[in-house]
Amino acid sequence: MAWETVIGLEVHVQLRTRTKMFCACRTTFGDPPNTNVCPVCLGLPGALPVPNAEAVRLGTIAALALECTVHPTSGFARKNYFYPDLPKGYQISQFDRPLATAGRVAFESPDRGRIDVGITRLHLEEDAGKLLHDRVPGKTAVDLNRAGTPLAEIVSEPDLRSPAEARAYLTTLRQILVYAGVSDCSMEQGSLRVDANLSIRPAGDTRLDTKTEVKNLNSFANVERALEAERARQIALVESGQRVRPVTLLFNAATGEVKPTRSKEESHDYRYFPDPDLPPLELSAQWIAARQDDLPELPEARRTRLEQALGIPSYDARVITSEAALADYFERVVGAGVEPKAAANWLMGDVMSSYNEGGSFPVTPERLAALVGLVRDGVVSHQAAKRVYGELAQSPNGEPKAIADRLGLVQVSDQGALGGWVDEVLAAHPAEVARYRGGETKLMAFFVGQVMKRSKGKADPKGVQPVLQERLR
Ligand SMILES: [Zn+2]
Repeated sequence: MAWETVIGLEVHVQLRTRTKMFCACRTTFGDPPNTNVCPVCLGLPGALPVPNAEAVRLGTIAALALECTVHPTSGFARKNYFYPDLPKGYQISQFDRPLATAGRVAFESPDRGRIDVGITRLHLEEDAGKLLHDRVPGKTAVDLNRAGTPLAEIVSEPDLRSPAEARAYLTTLRQILVYAGVSDCSMEQGSLRVDANLSIRPAGDTRLDTKTEVKNLNSFANVERALEAERARQIALVESGQRVRPVTLLFNAATGEVKPTRSKEESHDYRYFPDPDLPPLELSAQWIAARQDDLPELPEARRTRLEQALGIPSYDARVITSEAALADYFERVVGAGVEPKAAANWLMGDVMSSYNEGGSFPVTPERLAALVGLVRDGVVSHQAAKRVYGELAQSPNGEPKAIADRLGLVQVSDQGALGGWVDEVLAAHPAEVARYRGGETKLMAFFVGQVMKRSKGKADPKGVQPVLQERLR
């Protein structure tokens, strides 16, 4: 039987605030354990939470970037459960009155082309602390620095149909959130976490079957791998006559396997109720409209603009807008007078590889523009320009022309010098000369190549051909 896969994702992103969701403790990553804590985030009796206005602002911007409806009134609720990393015995979250609902993310699916995935809801909540199993031998330690960190939980509709599509959705979602400036979305630092739900059904069916949840996914590649494994596990179960049970599974990245943990049927009832310490969150229509104005140009809009206004291919635009920093750099290079497609080629080649290596741009856009100008004017060849770029990356204050001079890379277009190399080449290849004169004009490329070789790449190829033509006439 052909099976259809149904996937929905819950993504937690840490909002980029200086302080926690309901207290003034810092959210800095990597501080010594339990140094960023206070009575509020430790859950001491009598301590009262106060919502962080910046977290509400960033959550609202995130919701608008995902085209959600932001509600003028939302509410905080207590989600009750016991776990050592949760000092209050409950997590403050939003339950029946979330900040925002009904959004969408449009992206290119590897299987189905351009699709929309619905965003069910985006709500605000606080993070729990962290259990450390490797600090104290034989014991588990608790670090509450993370407890109370502001999160936005973004729940998608079960609109995804394959693990690869889930990965493409996550890539787009992260791009949007980073562009919008609401989160750095670093999976390494735990500021983006993914839980994935998956079920299968006979192809063509519309009802939703029992789903399972996969947790412990620490990269987008592993989300895809884990969902592949879970899909295979469910299909094998059903095809052997068993049924899928609603379990939570953990992914083991080393073995590529998913293993059930606790059954969802046995999982606790969270006994949600409105937090009596927190009044409803009221946002005025004007305030929400102003947040819409805070939104920067998002990746999709920027991609379309670069394609249409600058005429670069859609593939190039996609690569360049994958990160705002790359797109900014590109626009500065073009702004400095470089032809857009030439700028795009540099971006996707040397610029991107140095950016990926060091996380920054070693050559300023203006210097790169000057270098590309040297290629355009025939002063250096493209190959030579790549060497000059490498030098510039080492010495940020260098000037492209001076470096080309120093390395002896400036192309020779002087007629006398070109004529000398041409004469040497023709003398060395009498047979080819005869064939050319006999009508085999496609040998021109061979002669140009030989001259370039003899000149060690310094001859200006545009100047070589006329000299050859004249000598061969
Ligand atoms: Zn605190």
